[in-house]
Amino acid sequence: MSELGFTEITASAPIVTTRHGGRAKCLQRLIRLDMPVPRTVALDFDAVHGVSAGEMPDLKAMLDLFGPDPLLSVRPSSEDPDWGGPSAILNIGMNDALHAKLVGSHGEAAANALYLRFIQSYAVHVGRLDPDDFDAADAPTAEALQDALELYEEETDSYFPQDPQVQLAEILRSMARAWEGTTARLLREAKGAPADAGLGLVVQKMALGVGKGLSGSGVMQFVNGDTGLREVRGRYLCKSQGRDALTAPDDSDVMYLTRDPRGRSIEDVLPQNFADLITYGDKVRTRLREEMQIEFTIENEQLFILDAVRVQRSERANVRIAVELANDGIIGHDEAVLRIPPRALAELLHSQVDPKGDRDVFAEGIAASPGAATGKIVFNARAAQAMAAQDEDCILVRRETSPEDIRGMHAARGILTIRGGITSHAAVIARGLGLPCVVGAGDLKLDKKKGKLIAPDGRVFREGDVITVDGAAGEALSGSVDLLPPELGDCFKKLMTWADEFRDIGIRANADTPPDADKAVMFEAEGIGLCRTEHMFIDDDRLLAMREMIFANSSEDRRAALERLLPMQRDDFTALFRIMQGKPVCIRLFDPPLHEFLPHGREGMRELAEALDLPISDVTMRVAGLREFNPMLGMRGVRLGVTVPEIYDMQARAIFEATIEVSKIGDPVVPEIMIPLVSAKREVEIVKTRIDAVAAAVRVEAEADFTYRLGVMVETPRAALRADEIAHHASFMSFGTNDLTQMTYGLSRDDAGRFMGEYVNQGVYVEDPFHTLDRDGVGELLEIGAERARGAREEVTLSICGEHGGNPESIAFCREAGFDYVSCSPFRVPVARLAAAHLAIQDRMAQEAEKAK
Ligand code: PEP
Ligand code: MG
Repeated sequence: MSELGFTEITASAPIVTTRHGGRAKCLQRLIRLDMPVPRTVALDFDAVHGVSAGEMPDLKAMLDLFGPDPLLSVRPSSEDPDWGGPSAILNIGMNDALHAKLVGSHGEAAANALYLRFIQSYAVHVGRLDPDDFDAADAPTAEALQDALELYEEETDSYFPQDPQVQLAEILRSMARAWEGTTARLLREAKGAPADAGLGLVVQKMALGVGKGLSGSGVMQFVNGDTGLREVRGRYLCKSQGRDALTAPDDSDVMYLTRDPRGRSIEDVLPQNFADLITYGDKVRTRLREEMQIEFTIENEQLFILDAVRVQRSERANVRIAVELANDGIIGHDEAVLRIPPRALAELLHSQVDPKGDRDVFAEGIAASPGAATGKIVFNARAAQAMAAQDEDCILVRRETSPEDIRGMHAARGILTIRGGITSHAAVIARGLGLPCVVGAGDLKLDKKKGKLIAPDGRVFREGDVITVDGAAGEALSGSVDLLPPELGDCFKKLMTWADEFRDIGIRANADTPPDADKAVMFEAEGIGLCRTEHMFIDDDRLLAMREMIFANSSEDRRAALERLLPMQRDDFTALFRIMQGKPVCIRLFDPPLHEFLPHGREGMRELAEALDLPISDVTMRVAGLREFNPMLGMRGVRLGVTVPEIYDMQARAIFEATIEVSKIGDPVVPEIMIPLVSAKREVEIVKTRIDAVAAAVRVEAEADFTYRLGVMVETPRAALRADEIAHHASFMSFGTNDLTQMTYGLSRDDAGRFMGEYVNQGVYVEDPFHTLDRDGVGELLEIGAERARGAREEVTLSICGEHGGNPESIAFCREAGFDYVSCSPFRVPVARLAAAHLAIQDRMAQEAEKAK
């Protein structure tokens, strides 16, 4: 920090973003580009921190720098402009004496307007007076000015400060303190700011947009913030300051920037200023390597550039802008890729409510985060977590959210709040998580005690009722609706192609059905990493065949029931192989305990007894006989494969027959068959022997050849520990981190939601380990498993396919541990592709920086 406590921003001044903030650095860049920036000084983070503790910079020296009768603005300058900061304050230095002078030079109306504006912001930001009392007056008359001064005196019991040094000190203090307040800290932390993020401030000489003729101020940008397409946008307003032009009503004296048949434009009436603005715009784009919005003032035909900020943009526009900058050679492909935060892709990838479908809107609010989601209502975070643990989609409905709700927000598909605005906690967090969110639906009544949500038309919704949140329209709809898949533009595709060029770990999708596989292809997954076949048995006709199989008394009867399932399974696999067009498809053999396929209630038992032509008592007895105390640790996965081998025989046959069929018409299919829940090598040997025999039989019957790969799922700690001996029989090993987490912690994945919030709140777990991979414990097992498997069989393919697969943090872990690919739900595939590319690029940059040392 300089001795004076501030630094004048010049082309050569030591201004750095990490100490003075992004705005200060940007202003220096504009100065270096020879733009007409009024004199500006910067206070660094330490200085501002000092101000909040009562240590002022040398304000006299600062004011002297700006000459006699200084008129100044103060703006925040945080390290990342997205972290926000206190509002800018203009016209510091206005007092009775300067007002009198300006009446002479600029006219009474202009002088009144400047003074009024200053009194208003000073009263609100420094005096903390009610903004409603100091609303902008309709016209800047002498009377309005007098009223404002009197009101200030009444409310504060003191005269409006006349000394510019006092004004400046109070403003700097109030801005420094606002930054350190809890609300501001929480909001910026939600945007990724560290807890100790600093604030810089810039103090700038005002260029007065209230001079003669067409003097005024405006903002200009060269790109559309919604679409990212290149076009000049912005507005200009005569006799105005700051960003007034943006908020001025359409019927005011607002001017267009480019020539426009609807009215006057800067291009027409101030052609030289317009030409300069265009030149500056080009310079800024190529030299600052970013699309910026320029804030400018024209004072008596002289142009001043006051500020340039990154154009606010949608995620869609952000992608287009990055791709266009790279196409124009302004940034490299790697930088374009790095500019898109992986999690932000959610906005592009989300479904939307089909506009052609019916909409039963029961509440309207603010569209706070895009996308649409359907689920059952829950009224608190605990219920959301419990429902998610049951694999049920839910919508979290709250009066407003607070940090304690975060875990429930993670678990929910969408969020609806009654209070709050676009920057409320719910809105900020939901956007970060990519969850559809509607806030401020103020006409809804929430009766928490009775668990009721009452719509303005009197309809009552209770916990468990299905609703849809349309985060793009800001509406809550009753029931479920048709959703349209997201639309991915050319720029998105190009960016993802570039990402793939840098990426060094494979990304596959978890997909069980043809629609899932279609999505996997749309998102360019490199294959299917996990097809959970049990999901194929829930249709009514299959369920009955399945139940007959479970109830069969002999191997013969069981085989007969499976004969009926065989063609259906063959069709399932044929469809998946066709869609995936030669890309690898990893099919996991049947995994869950058999009793999950049996009816539970009396009515269900009766129906089954009828269908099987058995007495109901037989059915009830068999169902009871299959019941287990710990089904997730019981007769499931490979244990079924060993004890009821006909199921896996049927599935293997279906896979091989589909392989032959699809290979005839397209690329040869090499199916991957995966054995779940392995814990001992002998299990693999037994299953492998049978599957090899089925393969041999199918080859002979069909007179066709094919190859296949057999692998195991590592979901038990023992499988990870014994990975070396298991790897002898497995050409791939895929770590199922859902079960592996469950078994490593001894923590039920279905019940943990009940106390997980409490556990995380008390710091027992840093995070929910089912949500964020536990690097320490589960991670160690992954590392041990990977190392031992590779030691025994170097070419073994290693992957993870639990829910963690798509998280950027897990991808980083898997890269470091030498995994070949991760597999995640189709919608997470682009996020994973981009995250993996970021990691590869960042690694390369770190290596280059190391070499350059
Ligand atoms: C797992 O356990 O991680 C896994 C992918 O399998 P499932 O979730 O089907 O148990
Ligand atoms: Mg599992």
